[in-house]
Amino acid sequence: MIPFNGFGREPTSLAEAEVAAARRVIDSRWYVLGPEVAAFEEEWARACGAHSSVGVANGLDGIEICLRSLGIGPGDEVITTPMTAFATILGIMRAGATPVLADIDEATALLSPESVRRCITPRTRAVLLVHLYGQMRQMRVWNQLCNELGLQLIEDCAQAHLARSAEGPAGLVGTASSWSFYPTKNLGAVGDAGAVVSRDSAVIDKARLLRNYGQSTRYEHVEIGLNSRLDELQAAILRARLPLLAEFTKRRRVIAEHYYRGISNPRVSLLAEPETPEAHVHHLFVINCPERDVLAAYLRDAGVETLIHYPIAAHQQPALVNALMDPHGLPVAEAHASTCLSLPCHPGLTDSEVEQVIAAVNNFDAP
Ligand SMILES: *Cc1c(COP(=O)(O)O)cnc(C)c1O
Repeated sequence: MIPFNGFGREPTSLAEAEVAAARRVIDSRWYVLGPEVAAFEEEWARACGAHSSVGVANGLDGIEICLRSLGIGPGDEVITTPMTAFATILGIMRAGATPVLADIDEATALLSPESVRRCITPRTRAVLLVHLYGQMRQMRVWNQLCNELGLQLIEDCAQAHLARSAEGPAGLVGTASSWSFYPTKNLGAVGDAGAVVSRDSAVIDKARLLRNYGQSTRYEHVEIGLNSRLDELQAAILRARLPLLAEFTKRRRVIAEHYYRGISNPRVSLLAEPETPEAHVHHLFVINCPERDVLAAYLRDAGVETLIHYPIAAHQQPALVNALMDPHGLPVAEAHASTCLSLPCHPGLTDSEVEQVIAAVNNFDAP
């Protein structure tokens, strides 16, 4: 079986570096918010082209912390996409704000600016843009739209490590950004981890307070914070993995390029190609097929593991009843949810496996 994720296919030198990092932390007897976290925050900021970053416990917390650092909370509306990890929506709700769901563009599966305009109310404070599957697009349009309407642009970068648009790198086009280092992300820890990145030092300072009980100095609490600290072990592992991220990203781009050139089954459609190669980091390679479930079963029989991102749009989740949304509804997101399928795209795939995936997709003959 060609696996969906590349765990266990990484260079042994990387595994050894991770074990050495873990040993360093255990030997140091310092486990939470220490020198490894501080060093990772600096290294991650540099990788993003930022001055500083704040390590947090996960990407969901990062979204809550971004919003709260900008003073967005109860009574405020935040517009985002229903085609995302549910954590995007939860982060808005956890900040006390109200998510408003706009539809997506069919060609990219990203938030539609036209639909966002229909979602604006006097309570709208921000657009939470998700660089879904690793793609940054139309960043000039988003900047202009948010400037024109006086809204904050916040980026959910959980899938977009090292992506760079013509308007700037992921995480620095808007006012604040949240990152996830969940193990399956392009940069992953060996557990949960996340970060907040911003150009705005006030956001960084507030995020640093909020992640640690809202504590300014020991036992003095100036904010109602949370416990969203990053631990030393995860930070040390991330430091061991970060030096390989650029190389891994390059490999993802090569694989995606092969898929774009090779997949030619008329039953299958591909999303729009990247605006520029740098603007897409191919966290996921997603195709659409009206007979999606039959195709997934066919590929499994042909030895190709697939997943679906995402089979249920946010507004169709049982936990999210009465979600506010575009008055025109969210038909494009619903159609995407029922036809999308993610192919393996991790850097551990061999060239011949990539060709096998392409051949299997092209051989699929719909019933
Ligand atoms: C993974 C992910 C998150 C959540 O990150 P966690 O670290 O799992 O909390 C949020 N948004 C998107 C788009 C994601 O892919």
